[in-house]
Amino acid sequence: MSDCLFCRILAKEIPSRKVHEDELTYAFHDVNPQAPTHVLIVPRKHLAGVAEMDKTDESLCGALLFRAKEIADSLGLTSYRLVFNSGAEAGQSVFHLHLHLLGGRRMKWPPG
Ligand code: AMP
Repeated sequence: MSDCLFCRILAKEIPSRKVHEDELTYAFHDVNPQAPTHVLIVPRKHLAGVAEMDKTDESLCGALLFRAKEIADSLGLTSYRLVFNSGAEAGQSVFHLHLHLLGGRRMKWPPG
């Protein structure tokens, strides 16, 4: 989608700091990090968010989660938080499905 920020990052029209890529996913550093490590894992397929997934996306969702775990391992993180913001009221600002991987500092719960 030409008007989607993360599709444009995937197409390399907008630069990003790559962490990992494979046939299904791309991971890069968040431009406005909320923790010492803040990586976004996105599917290459455009989906607006969690709410737009259907049954055919079940394995893609698993791939995002497992990729996050592998990236956390590769960065030496033993404690980290994984977040999907789903919908504007939950804090979603980019409407291309993405998983936040946050680590490197103590985090509060509940997040607020
Ligand atoms: P969300 O608010 O859950 O939709 O998360 C979107 C994230 O994308 C935010 O944490 C932003 O800081 C991040 N972001 C926005 N533009 C860029 C960009 N060009 N490169 C990397 N991260 C970005």
